Amino acid sequence: MNSQPIILDTYQYRNQSMARECQTLSIYIHIPFCTSKCTYCAFNTYTKMENLIPAFVDALNREIAYVARNNPYKTVGTVFFGGGTPTLLSTAQFESILSGIRQHFTLSPSAEITTEANPNDLSIEYLSGLRRAGINRISIGMQSANDEELRLFARRHDRHTVIAAVKMARLAGFDNINLDLIYGAPRQTMATWQDTVQTALAMDVQHFSLYALGLEAGTPMDDWVNSGQMPEPDDDLAADMYDYATEQLAQAGYQQYEISNWCRDDLMCCHNLQYWRNEPYIGVGPGAHGFAAGVRYAVMRAPAKYISTMLADDNATLDFPLTPAVDEANQLSVMDEIGETLIMSFRLLDEGVHLPSFQKRFGVDLMDLHGEKMAKFLKDGLLIRQDERIKLTENGRLLSNIIFRELI
Ligand code: SF4
Repeated sequence: MNSQPIILDTYQYRNQSMARECQTLSIYIHIPFCTSKCTYCAFNTYTKMENLIPAFVDALNREIAYVARNNPYKTVGTVFFGGGTPTLLSTAQFESILSGIRQHFTLSPSAEITTEANPNDLSIEYLSGLRRAGINRISIGMQSANDEELRLFARRHDRHTVIAAVKMARLAGFDNINLDLIYGAPRQTMATWQDTVQTALAMDVQHFSLYALGLEAGTPMDDWVNSGQMPEPDDDLAADMYDYATEQLAQAGYQQYEISNWCRDDLMCCHNLQYWRNEPYIGVGPGAHGFAAGVRYAVMRAPAKYISTMLADDNATLDFPLTPAVDEANQLSVMDEIGETLIMSFRLLDEGVHLPSFQKRFGVDLMDLHGEKMAKFLKDGLLIRQDERIKLTENGRLLSNIIFRELI
């Protein structure tokens, strides 16, 4: 074990990185429109702007063509439509975007293509149209099975709409369905959470994502809590809710492969795995983020400015992955990339950090780079070494923030 600090040469590493042509790329597409704003939401999304959608789709297709020009990656393995509310787009608009991707990139025949969906927007005809367009995974924002909580969140749907949406999705041919659930919200009780989990389990879907509600500045929920109209979220109750769901999902045969994600039949979300492995993805659409060729970047947030920028006649040639709509970009140092990779990989509970892959990617042995810290975490029972992997233990999960702080 080497106790001397190791400084990696970013330039040398970057050249190796760019040579990894066979690496698979993912594409995230941000749809920044919603019919109404949920009370906890701080995403980059806008209401009463649906009239912009046709021009937005044209701008998106321009951005996709632009970013593809000097793309060094051979295939695209996953596409994810997120938002916002992607299901405000027509199926023809989904088809147009996906045909642009097929035209400008090599989309793997087995690519996972996901859209997030609002249950209110779904009908058999619409869902069948999504399948025909090539969408093969759907992520439905259920959030809660309790109508009072759904009203508090200002969601547009009720409990029965979600149940009907899942049935219709299955009938339309979706066999990879995710439900998003929220726990730890003000006024949520253990009884309503248990009912939400049991209602969700009864729908027999392939995947669950569970989100602890975080109060985001500027949201109505945050204002209500700050002004005393609503109690603060109870962290202990939220931890009990998480434990309850973890136990119930395990009993029902779901594998917890990430801190907040469970799947059946090995149907992990390949797109999110790309993030957690810190592998490259491009982000298109207002407010999207991307990480490719060692550059982490963000696209401008305002839809109208995004549309006018991407539809303008601009001959400027920018290096991949930049486009005229990118308004923030940073070339990561190799040490930054290593820190990010470790933090995100440890979220993968079974996979953790695979030591030979780490060495191959960064040209350095993790135990040489961070040997003393790793030895301490292993000795303290926060990390465990199994074969060629290092993973978080149960205790390590609880103290993961401390581990992550030390590694960056
Ligand atoms: S539907 Fe989703 S993106 Fe839109 S406001 Fe609600 S939580 Fe935010």
